[in-house]
Amino acid sequence: MSGFNFDVITLFPAAFELINNSGVITRALDKNLIDVNLHDLRDYGEGSYRQVDDKPYGGGAGMVLKPEPIFKAYESINKSSKSKTLLMTPQGKVLKQKDLVRWSTLDQIIIICGQYEGFDERIRCLADEEISLGDYVLSGGEIPAISIINGLTRLIPGTLGDPDSLLDESHNSFLLEYPQYTRPFNFKEMKVPEILVSGNHEEIKSWRKQKSIERTMERRSDLISNKIFKNFQESKLNKGNFNKLTEFQTSNECENYPDWW
Ligand code: SAH
Repeated sequence: MSGFNFDVITLFPAAFELINNSGVITRALDKNLIDVNLHDLRDYGEGSYRQVDDKPYGGGAGMVLKPEPIFKAYESINKSSKSKTLLMTPQGKVLKQKDLVRWSTLDQIIIICGQYEGFDERIRCLADEEISLGDYVLSGGEIPAISIINGLTRLIPGTLGDPDSLLDESHNSFLLEYPQYTRPFNFKEMKVPEILVSGNHEEIKSWRKQKSIERTMERRSDLISNKIFKNFQESKLNKGNFNKLTEFQTSNECENYPDWW
């Protein structure tokens, strides 16, 4: 194995063609920084029809993925010692940037994609972590899997032209990114803030910090702990409190989830 390996068990490998035509990720594939190995669940299906699903015990709507094909596909994958297996499910831990950062130190991620009504409960024992893309239901695990491949690949050294672009971006810390502008200076009477063309790097840095905080407060105060948020509101964005704010880590978000790491 070389680079970072993604091994995906899926009934719809064609869905992953998207990553062959998606800029930064395609570049990482071309540079052998990542490899995406698709394991077509149908190849492990049973009988002449290559059956992979069946009706749920107890009755009810839809079809459920059978355990045997998924287990067979899983067992066919060479596993490295720095590997984790993720099961895509709306019942899992909601994906966060922190998870991508955590996994970026591995060298292999195995992703199991469900379909239809989901999968047989006994699949769960294969997973180190169960991951949800968000609180909504998709028809399959392929889009969540592509999201993980995409988000994680950006973090692999050599993928982004300028690795500094990871530093200030939203969700890297608990702050959202500041507003960004490019040319022209004046577009339909909407002007770029003067400070950004002042050439004063210190001032620009502190303006950006300020905007980052304001934006997070306005849109996602949930990213900031209640206590710090309260202090912050009371101090009306004064500089001393910014330092206090940066000390804070959004550690509480894991408390609602089982002990998966
Ligand atoms: N009946 C299931 C949902 C099945 S959706 C339930 O109520 O929990 C079919 C498959 O799509 C799932 O097995 C999962 O692999 C994938 N999927 C759907 N929504 C998802 C989400 N929000 N995050 C991750 N995977 C999802």
